[in-house]
Amino acid sequence: MPTKEKFYLTTPIYYTNGLPHIGHTYTTVVADVVRRFKRMRGYEVVMTTGTDEHGVNVERAAKKAGIAESEFVARMATEWRGLWNELGLNADEFIRTTDLKHVRTVQWLFKLCRENGYVYKDHYTGQYCIYDNAFVTDAKPGDNCPDCGRPTETVTEENYFFKLSAFQKPLLDFYRKNPTFIQPETRKNEIVSFVEGGLKDLSITRTTIRWGIPVPGEEPHVFYVWFDALTAYLSAVGGPEFERRGMWPADLHLVGKDIIRFHTVYWPAFLMAAMLPVPKQVWAHGWFLMDASKMSKSKGNVILPRPIANMLGMDALRYFLLREIVFGQDGNFSYDALVTRYNSDLANGLGNLASRTAAMIDKSFAGKIPKPAALAPQDVALAKETQSTIGEVLERYENMEFARALETIWGVIAAADKYLTSEQPWALSDGQADTERKAAILWTTAEILRIVTALAHPVLPDSTGKVWSLLGQPGAVSGIELDGLRWGQLVSGVQLGKAQALFPRVDKAEAIERIEAMANEEQNPQPAPAAAHAVATSASSGAAAAPAVSEKIGIEDFAKVEMRVGQIKTAERIVGADKLLKLTVDIGTEIRQICAGIAQYYEPEALIGRKVAVVTNLAPRKLRGVESNGMIIAASVGPEGRPVLAGFHEDVEVGARLK
Ligand SMILES: [Zn+2]
Repeated sequence: MPTKEKFYLTTPIYYTNGLPHIGHTYTTVVADVVRRFKRMRGYEVVMTTGTDEHGVNVERAAKKAGIAESEFVARMATEWRGLWNELGLNADEFIRTTDLKHVRTVQWLFKLCRENGYVYKDHYTGQYCIYDNAFVTDAKPGDNCPDCGRPTETVTEENYFFKLSAFQKPLLDFYRKNPTFIQPETRKNEIVSFVEGGLKDLSITRTTIRWGIPVPGEEPHVFYVWFDALTAYLSAVGGPEFERRGMWPADLHLVGKDIIRFHTVYWPAFLMAAMLPVPKQVWAHGWFLMDASKMSKSKGNVILPRPIANMLGMDALRYFLLREIVFGQDGNFSYDALVTRYNSDLANGLGNLASRTAAMIDKSFAGKIPKPAALAPQDVALAKETQSTIGEVLERYENMEFARALETIWGVIAAADKYLTSEQPWALSDGQADTERKAAILWTTAEILRIVTALAHPVLPDSTGKVWSLLGQPGAVSGIELDGLRWGQLVSGVQLGKAQALFPRVDKAEAIERIEAMANEEQNPQPAPAAAHAVATSASSGAAAAPAVSEKIGIEDFAKVEMRVGQIKTAERIVGADKLLKLTVDIGTEIRQICAGIAQYYEPEALIGRKVAVVTNLAPRKLRGVESNGMIIAASVGPEGRPVLAGFHEDVEVGARLK
């Protein structure tokens, strides 16, 4: 049993017929912020996410891909888990509904419900699509299938039913005794009136679906959707042996508003029927609207997290999602607003305050945080103001008011900026009195920065870590106990750490264009380039390491490739693409922009003036959103395919053709 107070939270178990988009990312980011916040308040925290892998949609998708369902879902789970890891959103538990421990838990829960008299067998009649092998929910006789448009047929099958109707009163009593169970308040009213309207028993098994968890001894019955998926929250922390882990009941289920009914009606009813503890809270967030319409695959307005994280950093996306959208309500998503926030709040706000403060301490105090001899009234006033916001921010986080928590923190940043502008430490002399005054100002500013960093850490885990080490403060910022955070704990006399670029300013139009190009690349992947092509220009393709079998070509085929001597004029790194360099290359007749996947092995400055072999008649293409018009030839060396630029031992004229 944990000695600390426990906190168990979950995201939904995401359905694996598609890949993660910004909506899933939003829920998972919120869960990660809550997890980090609770840890900094001293809780023993477990966060669960996972994949919902059963059902007819998976059957269909696997069939379309020409592979077994088990292989299809294994690939999808790898994709989901991989993306969460890449985005720094790796949960403590990743549960798959095909995991054996989950299968056992569902069967055990069913057994308990049945033993307690809440399960019975009956006939289920509905509209069925023979082509898709699926019941069409809410269809009436004569309706067509929404998936394929064919007429549905009325079909009756034998199902197991759950006596949901028996839980109307117990649920209403439960909501009354636990007034914060359903959040936000508006959703609670909806659910209460839904339950007051009466509950119908629920079919929880199917015989028409093959890909599901079998009902023991009752094949061909398999569990249907919610009885399977919801139970994953319990499977992840011990299933039948949940008491040993000590995490159940869940303290918080985070869900989208479209699935709140299942989480606040079905799920507590299943658990009550099994006489198991019921979760403490379900929080429903809103949807992302783009031009006021819900984001959806069919509308083609899906936003992907990876291109944004590549361009601006994951912290920027986290900040935007929590700052711009009031948690619990619908919010608008636009790249324009995202980049605007990035530049104003992160680059000009936190990033600028950190780099300014460090630069002044560097200049006036040889990079050591000064110790003030005396404080002026305005320093003390600012200290009081900052101290008073600590409690306010903690309360806002605790109430899931993330936008307001961040607004409060950024209010402190603005106050520090204003303070520096009015105190003008840069205008003070090196005389003793002025130096003492400078020490007080810079100590005060650094202390504000320390407090802001600790408070913003749950939302900006990466960049606050950088500010923390810049300030040379002991330990890790994640190890700060927020409840013990006070004004005046800044350790002075320590040397500042190395300055790191926090949030480089970006040009809005260019940043948006790059994000969109990367999103387009990700949604419409081009076929893998040929081996030779990959060497110089592809940042990530594994094709270079596995050259195709050499097939002999005629001289006329080779003659189609135009190669010339080029000279590199400029070289720079590309924000958001750590393997690529953007080069301009003189090829004799013109100067071309070419991207090359050599950034990890060549310093940009060292390349200027270098003569290289360039394929000049390659169709232009975009790499990470940057146009590349041509290709630099490089050898691929060693197991990791280190690029070595091809060159010349004698001086050659720029533009000369290679034959
Ligand atoms: Zn159909």
